[in-house]
Amino acid sequence: MAGYQKFLHVGLALDPIHVGTGGARLGRVDLTIVRDPVTRVPKIPGSSLAGVYRTYVAMALEEQRSQQNPQRSRPYYPDCAGLGQPRGDYLGHCAQPDCPVCTVFGFARGRDQSGGFAGLAAFTDAHVLLFPVPTRQGPRWITCPDALRLIGLEVQGVDKNAVYLKSAQNNPLNLGWLLLPVEICKQFQHIVDRLRTFLKSLKNPEHILNRLALIPDHLFSHIVNSNLEVRTSVAINPATGAAEEQALFSYEALPRGTVLAWEIIAKNPKHFRIEGKEISAKVNGDKIDDPEKVFKVTQKAHEYLEHLGIGGMGTRGMGRLKVLSDGQSPSTQSVDCGASSTSTTGPSASATGPSSSAPAPSTGDTAASSSGTTEQGGEQ
Ligand SMILES: [Zn+2]
Repeated sequence: MAGYQKFLHVGLALDPIHVGTGGARLGRVDLTIVRDPVTRVPKIPGSSLAGVYRTYVAMALEEQRSQQNPQRSRPYYPDCAGLGQPRGDYLGHCAQPDCPVCTVFGFARGRDQSGGFAGLAAFTDAHVLLFPVPTRQGPRWITCPDALRLIGLEVQGVDKNAVYLKSAQNNPLNLGWLLLPVEICKQFQHIVDRLRTFLKSLKNPEHILNRLALIPDHLFSHIVNSNLEVRTSVAINPATGAAEEQALFSYEALPRGTVLAWEIIAKNPKHFRIEGKEISAKVNGDKIDDPEKVFKVTQKAHEYLEHLGIGGMGTRGMGRLKVLSDGQSPSTQSVDCGASSTSTTGPSASATGPSSSAPAPSTGDTAASSSGTTEQGGEQ
């Protein structure tokens, strides 16, 4: 039996998504979003995903419990969601080996966070796989070799300052404000085919697949960062109906239509003990005793993620994320944009998952300050 299993998730932003750095800094906007410190591409930290998944799984299980009315002294929600430490009316995590929330997501004991349990599910950061950009031909979804590595594609031959498309066109193409010459990627169809497997639950995946554009890694961050959604809000004085002085603020977000990819690594429950006791948590009478069943528990969050969302500004039309596909991480396939369209280097089995490859540093971004991954556990 495997000690762990990896499950790749691909999700579509139904709204702009703002997962903030938790503070303002000097720059274009007041409230910035989290970025990868090396590539400068915005992302959703795994800690945010873990917190939101935990909350929604606790909600889903509590909903189920209240309908079926099994005996349980404490509710999953809010007790086993949230921060964990008892405070006021909130009793904190139950920390029992038969709790599907506390075993899958872990818990800390005591104020010093010691004596806890790490949890059976681990979350990677969610990275941008496809990013929508306005062009004079309508929207295009851009991607790059770094991003495609998330879904197990090793893409070569994308090294010119150009946009790579499936077929030739005479005119250069603008991605936002940046005008780029067009090159042909001869094995573009391999990329389309792999992406289709992750987008097939969409009603019309061709809407995105027909508008793909491949660009080199070093241009990806520039184009993403110059096409983020930026909103400005102001507080309104209820007495006058006019804007409050000094209450204007701006914030940025990943735009609607962004496609993100993340992994959940599910550990084998049989390898773990909580205070010497075996993990005995059950869902619908079925004991959580292998990685697949740990993954099944996390899946209960997906319906809530689609409707309640992730990140901040949830009451201002932001945050909904629809999971398009989830399943075992795929094997690696090579794509060479310079090679002929028919030859394929074929799928080759790979022991290492897509997310284990380090992203290549991108050059030239001016802001070098740390993005500071922020804990957003439980925020909705
Ligand atoms: Zn619990």
